[in-house]
Amino acid sequence: MSEEAKNGAVELIRTPVQLEYKYSAGRSASRFLRAMKEGKLIGQRCPVDGRVYFPSRGSCPQHGVPIEGEPVELSDHGTLVTFSIVRIPSDAVPLDVPFVTVQVLLDGADTILMHLLGNCELEEVHMGMRVKAVWKPKDEWEESVANILYFEPSGEPDASYDSYKEHI
Ligand SMILES: [Zn+2]
Repeated sequence: MSEEAKNGAVELIRTPVQLEYKYSAGRSASRFLRAMKEGKLIGQRCPVDGRVYFPSRGSCPQHGVPIEGEPVELSDHGTLVTFSIVRIPSDAVPLDVPFVTVQVLLDGADTILMHLLGNCELEEVHMGMRVKAVWKPKDEWEESVANILYFEPSGEPDASYDSYKEHI
């Protein structure tokens, strides 16, 4: 589609671009994705300082060492560390606005997971809120983080600021 100015020059051309990638997941991501199909959240521990990465990419970005020890199974409960209320629609995001994106520190993990928040009034969203995963029906689970539809308030008391301040 093009738009022409009065003098006949083309001033704007719209050219939708889409790229599709295929790549090998590798050992760590494969382990993580297979566990997701079983409804398990698997992290891995850095052998240097013990930090648990979720999901693990197979190496510690801080120490530059492989992370190949025993997988660490994490809870599907966590703490809402930060959030953003999105009020601007986008063709690239198939969600009705407003919606809430959250960064969740799963219990037992040292890295945060970005996801969505549901079942919560906008004015009630706050840092330190305890949340839990809402899963798709089990027969729909695939090798995908999308098995978790969103997080919702768990009803537990808020986490202390000190417990998540290093992850903001
Ligand atoms: Zn490390």
